[in-house]
Amino acid sequence: MEMKIKDLIQKKYKYETKYQRNVAWKKKNWDLLIDSIMNGYHIPPIIVTNGEVIDGKQRIVAIEKYMNNEYEWHDLSNLTTKGKKYSDLSTQEKIAFDNRDILITDLGDMTNEKVLETFIRINEGSIKLNKAELMMAKALPENRELVKNISHNRNINELVNNKINDSRFKVENLITRCLAILHIEKTKGKDVRSFTNKILQQEFTNDIANIQEKFNLVIDWMFEILGNDTIPTKSFNTIFESIFCAFYNNTENFKSYIESKNEIKKEIVILQAELLSDQMGGGIKFDSYDFVSKRIEKVEYVLLPYNLDSKRNFSYDEKLTIWNNDKHECKICNKVLNDINDYEPDHIKPHSKGGKTIISNGQILCISCNRRKSNNY
Ligand SMILES: [Zn+2]
Repeated sequence: MEMKIKDLIQKKYKYETKYQRNVAWKKKNWDLLIDSIMNGYHIPPIIVTNGEVIDGKQRIVAIEKYMNNEYEWHDLSNLTTKGKKYSDLSTQEKIAFDNRDILITDLGDMTNEKVLETFIRINEGSIKLNKAELMMAKALPENRELVKNISHNRNINELVNNKINDSRFKVENLITRCLAILHIEKTKGKDVRSFTNKILQQEFTNDIANIQEKFNLVIDWMFEILGNDTIPTKSFNTIFESIFCAFYNNTENFKSYIESKNEIKKEIVILQAELLSDQMGGGIKFDSYDFVSKRIEKVEYVLLPYNLDSKRNFSYDEKLTIWNNDKHECKICNKVLNDINDYEPDHIKPHSKGGKTIISNGQILCISCNRRKSNNY
């Protein structure tokens, strides 16, 4: 059916649907559309179903913006004239504009699934959406929401900050890959890329709010430890996801990572060369879960010395063994202690630096030596 522009706008078709991308048109496209309306050129039909726009969002937005006087149209058939906002049009021009017929193709009632499928087919056919956009279009609404919410984290944008060229959806893409790696069925030879294409279409068994919270936490820590100057632009995604997933798998140790952030940062800078050299060869094999998890393990290996041993206190038996091994003497000043209850075993390598609570890492220190030691750390 044909509809006049004024009626089309009145009709207020819903176009902010989940699968639609954000406004991607440039001013040039808007100009061209308004010019086509004013000068009587063909305008592709707008496709709707159940009162929702499947194809034509960009065109409707452009018309709305023009009618709200948000930009000027430049008459392409007469370039000598000045640009005109809608309010600058003569009465005659306004009438012509308002009454221009636009073809509307109403596909009638369709299930959500069918709508989505149609949307994807239209877009795949005309190659309008990029791969990441299609991935988002196919996602379950709650998963799309999850990725969108995480992508608004300021620190991930600081970390990514101009490091990836691929303009739209770059952060969403990165988050989706991390989600995929963390949730991939860990079968040998599994390809992360193809899993990434599916992850957003499946329901997460864990509470989605927890995933979001944990992602944000890890991103914030990552930024605190690495700042925005650590991960290089080259192979940014690969290095980012390796570090992110390693951190994500070891969140219980973050307090000690933060305490040792300078050391960790230094070691990760050194590790990057190794993570990169694994990339030689490239391709699917490089993206297999085996390869990806090897890179993650390398980062985890860097973190290992900083992991907190969850057991902080020595048992009485361990305390007694150390008491006897050290012959009741402070290991620093050799002062002899009278009573086992006057001391608590000291961690030779501090607990906060990953020192374990085991007899071989325990020693006697008198109160004053103990205090001096902790002041030095
Ligand atoms: Zn002492």
